[in-house]
Amino acid sequence: MGKRGKKKRLAVLGATGSIGSSTLEVVGARGEDFEVVLLSAHSNAAALEKLGARFPGALLVLSGGADSRLSLAPGPSAAGSFRLSLAEAIAEAGADITVNGIAGAAGLAPSLDSLRAGSALALANKETAVMAYPLVKALAAERGLPVIPVDSEHAAVFRLLEGRAGVEEIILTASGGPFRHYSLEQLRLVKPEEALAHPTWTMGPKITVDSATMANKGLEVIEAVRLFGMKPDQVKVVIHPQSVVHSLVRTRGGALYAQLSRPDMRLPIQEALYWPESAPSPFGALDLAGLRLDFEEPDGERFPMLPLAYGAAGLGGLYPCAYNGANEEAVSAFFRGAVGFLDIPDIVRYVLDQDWGGALDLESVLETDRRSREEAAARIGRYA
Ligand code: NDP
Ligand code: MG
Repeated sequence: MGKRGKKKRLAVLGATGSIGSSTLEVVGARGEDFEVVLLSAHSNAAALEKLGARFPGALLVLSGGADSRLSLAPGPSAAGSFRLSLAEAIAEAGADITVNGIAGAAGLAPSLDSLRAGSALALANKETAVMAYPLVKALAAERGLPVIPVDSEHAAVFRLLEGRAGVEEIILTASGGPFRHYSLEQLRLVKPEEALAHPTWTMGPKITVDSATMANKGLEVIEAVRLFGMKPDQVKVVIHPQSVVHSLVRTRGGALYAQLSRPDMRLPIQEALYWPESAPSPFGALDLAGLRLDFEEPDGERFPMLPLAYGAAGLGGLYPCAYNGANEEAVSAFFRGAVGFLDIPDIVRYVLDQDWGGALDLESVLETDRRSREEAAARIGRYA
């Protein structure tokens, strides 16, 4: 519920994606509590148009600009009613809360814009935290607005930390991805189609490949370091193939506290939308009977994106941003068949070996994002 039973004004950035669709399913199930005021997509005009029909009051933004509009089918379309500037629409929409489900580094500026516009931020876009959380945190504090993690592991930790003193360690669970048991030789031959099939979660293509290389967990280690103010050696990763335990915290006294639920992003999204309250979940509860939970150590040799992330987190500053930019470039090269699966960590290692020292301000973050991609692209060119 919004304040005094008023509907919460909700903006959904990346509304046509996996997080966006899950968010709109939550809204569909609990529509009495939300008014959707903004929906954004980048280039999928047809899907955005359909969403516009479902939520007639929302501003519709196609941030990919004029080029995307050309791909619209001819005929009576809503093309004329699409906004092309996400920043302007965010300022105009007056949302109480924004779910940022944009994929990749492009999500950073809209996170800052949403806070500037006075909206609470339900953050699925982990790149925002990885690249520039200190800036986001300062802006949120200045405006008195909450940043509520949606990434399932961080959503779990966020709640496990509430009201709990003496937490010394965070343990992030990882499914291990589809290639958990592959040898290095098998990993070398992995094709994009195989990397796009995830055993427990259905997600957008980029994060699915990141789960297969464990770059997703690498990004999440950095995300946890930044969101929760931990040192990198206080954030551990454990492989847990069932994806039922979403994360754990260990207290000074030695106790472990865990959060469990079915692997369904609608649950952390709903929790974020209602925080600090909560609402009954229409999406079913976890049945404990017969449940089996396995845990094992990750293997940094076969999955070097994880140790590389610890390295970037340890160096801090702009290194996490370079890790992300290089990985985004490497993954898109993998998608177009320009490099192999095991070249992804090689490219990222090459980029991280360069000097990314410097103060973390918005200009340097954007410059690091640009330059890390440029360096990665130069390296990718050598594989051709
Ligand atoms: P998808 O690829 O499914 O969706 C991405 C969305 O972002 C689409 O609406 C897309 O629009 C839009 N988009 C793409 N590029 C841009 C751009 N340059 N500028 C603005 N909008 C853009 O991604 P996911 O939903 O899987 O992931 C979104 C974010 O949430 C990522 O940061 C991911 O790491 C994080 N996350 C996702 C989880 C999941 O379960 N999917 C779990 C935890 C975190 P269009 O359709 O027009 O291309
Ligand atoms: Mg996650």
